[in-house]
Amino acid sequence: MRNALGVILAGVVSVVVITAVWFWTYSPRLALAAPDTVSARQAARLSATGSAKPARALADEIEVTAAISAKSSATTASTIAASTAVPSAPVPATPVQPKTACANPDALGVSRVVEIDTTGGPGFGFEHFKQFDFLADKEVVLTFDDGPWPVNTPAVLKALADECTKAVFFPIGKHATYHPAILRQVAAAGHTVGAHTWSHANLNSKKISEQQAKDEVEKGFSAVKLALGAAPSPFFRFPELQHGPAAMAYLGTRNVAIFSCDLDSFDFRAKDAAQIVNTVMTKLDKSGKGIILMHDFQKHTAEALPTLLGRLKAGGYKVVQMRAKAALQTLAEYDEGLVKDMKLPTASTRPLGNVVQTVSQ
Ligand SMILES: [Zn+2]
Repeated sequence: MRNALGVILAGVVSVVVITAVWFWTYSPRLALAAPDTVSARQAARLSATGSAKPARALADEIEVTAAISAKSSATTASTIAASTAVPSAPVPATPVQPKTACANPDALGVSRVVEIDTTGGPGFGFEHFKQFDFLADKEVVLTFDDGPWPVNTPAVLKALADECTKAVFFPIGKHATYHPAILRQVAAAGHTVGAHTWSHANLNSKKISEQQAKDEVEKGFSAVKLALGAAPSPFFRFPELQHGPAAMAYLGTRNVAIFSCDLDSFDFRAKDAAQIVNTVMTKLDKSGKGIILMHDFQKHTAEALPTLLGRLKAGGYKVVQMRAKAALQTLAEYDEGLVKDMKLPTASTRPLGNVVQTVSQ
């Protein structure tokens, strides 16, 4: 009996010892592997003038928030510091879209999503800004300017949806006030929406004062916000890629990222859709990657897009979506000024009969 008890006791002791050894050997590793988030980076301080840009590492500006496939995340790792973390503090500019299944099994899709920290107003697009080379070979970013516009913008949205892919849109403020419902379709489809001034003014023109340039920028963003009912991304593209120095400095103080491009499709002067496809593919095959500038405002672009997206897929190109880390805080004076300018009705829910009554006839 004593022997039997001894055997049981020895057995229990052995299990405890083995468990303890296992715990001390493996648990620190598990603990290290566990956190899926990192603390958000502290915002860089702006210089007093706002014109001097802080020297910042690429990984500070761009963060990979989602890798769609294992294959694409492998490409990512070599180019920029990949992180699976989603910073918790700022409000995301693009609300997370409910994941809808792609009906096209052979779609171009989105290979990865990058999140941009727009602090200090970083510039993108090698035609003007060479600091942040974040695209890997065969990666493209699709961008569309000058919308929203009837027929053409919806056609662009359909072509993108058919390929389950995403783009960045730079709408003109005035157009956003003409066709807010179309712009809401753009945002609802999960695309990134920035702004492209109020009236497409050349902000590098000598005729434009600093105040007018500021008005064009802010009113443009406020118009997009008014149309969307939500704050736009702090992404801006200068009309005609005319980068006025004062406006550049101003955008820096507003923490708005500036978009030039790597490849200009020159779609606005193309004689037909085929010419746009040829221009883009020829340039792309030479450069191997890049931010592509197109216009959802243009009929030929809308017509060219299904073919162009098919050619991108066939050529082994992958689409990267750019998103902002936080939404732009528009300025109240411009939000309010816009409502006044547009002579929008004051909000009243009182029925007509309560407001206007015939008292004599
Ligand atoms: Zn434009």
